[in-house]
Amino acid sequence: MVRTPIPRLFALIGDPVAGNPTQEVVEDAFRRMGLDWRYISARVSPEALAPAVAGLRALGFHGAHVTVPHKVAVVRLVDVLSPAARAIGAVNCIVADDGVLRGENTDGVGLVAAVTRMKPVEGAHVLLFGAGGAARAIAVELAMAGAHDIRVANRDPKRRDHLVRAVEAIGGTVRGVSWPDRRIDIDGATIVVNATTIGMQAGTAGDAAVPVAWETARPGLIAADVVIERSTRFTAEAIAAGAIAIGGIEMLVEQAARSIELWTGRDPDREPLRRVLDAELTPPGGDRR
Ligand code: NDP
Repeated sequence: MVRTPIPRLFALIGDPVAGNPTQEVVEDAFRRMGLDWRYISARVSPEALAPAVAGLRALGFHGAHVTVPHKVAVVRLVDVLSPAARAIGAVNCIVADDGVLRGENTDGVGLVAAVTRMKPVEGAHVLLFGAGGAARAIAVELAMAGAHDIRVANRDPKRRDHLVRAVEAIGGTVRGVSWPDRRIDIDGATIVVNATTIGMQAGTAGDAAVPVAWETARPGLIAADVVIERSTRFTAEAIAAGAIAIGGIEMLVEQAARSIELWTGRDPDREPLRRVLDAELTPPGGDRR
C-alpha cells in the first residue's frame, strides 16, 4: 500500500446515494492499485450543492462523482469543462488539478468504450432511442468518436430536437425521427442503442418495448442497452435477431474505469470492477435477472 502523508479524498454527491454501488467499486479499485485513498458517499440536496462543491475545494478533495439530480446544476460550479461535458451540458465527474475543478462527463464514454471492444465506432450508422441525459451524452460521444450519422427517436420531440442541436453544434451528422406508432426499420444502422428507461424494473416503463423492427437487422449489428439490468427485453430481442448485445452493466464498468483513470492516471482492470458492481447490484439473498 502506497501511504501518502494525507490520503487523497474523493466523494460521490447526489440524492439519493443509498444503494449506489460506486463507493464500493472505487474503494476496491484504489485498494487493488495500492492506493491508500478515501471515498465517501454524501447525500446532498439541491440547495446544498453550491456549499458542498465549495466544501470539496476547501477540504482539498482530489475529485468527485456527481449523480442525479446535480449533473446539470454542477456545470456552473466548476472552473473548466472538458469538451464533452460542455457539449453535453452536464458533469458527472470532477477532477481537481492544483485546486482547479474540471468537469468531465463519462456517461457516454462507457457506451463508446464497450462498443469499441466489439467494433470501431468510426463510420458507424447509429439508431438511438431516447433523448434524456444518458442519450445526450451517448450521442455527443458517438459523434466525437466519428460515427457517420445518428438517427434519434424520442417520444418528446422538444427534447429530441435539443439533442439534435447539441450534436450539430460539435459538427456531428444527426437527424430526429418521430417516435413511431409501429416499429422502426434498422435501415442499415450498424449500432442500435436504447437510451430510454424502457426495461428498468424499478421504473414505470418496465413493460414497454423499444420499437425496433428486429427482422431488418443485418449480421454484425451491435445492440447496446443503457438500462442497468443483466438482461432486458431489448437485449433478449437483439440476441434472438442475431445481434451482438451489450448491457448497461458493461457501460457502467467502462464509465467507472474512465473516472478512476482520470483520478489515478492508470487504467484499472475491468474484471474486479465488474465483479464488485455485480455483487453490489444483486439484492441480498436474491438473484438478479
Ligand atoms: P432521463 O429521465 O433523462 O430520460 C429518460 C428517457 O427515457 C427519455 O428519452 C424518455 O422519453 C424515455 N422514456 C421513458 N419512458 C418511456 C416510455 N414509456 N416510452 C418511450 N420513451 C420513454 O433518464 P436518463 O437519460 O438519465 O437515464 C436513462 C436510463 O439510462 C436509465 O435507465 C439510467 O439508469 C440509465 N443509465 C445508465 C448508465 C450506464 O452506464 N449504464 C449511465 C446513465 C444512465 P421522453 O423524453 O419522451 O420522456
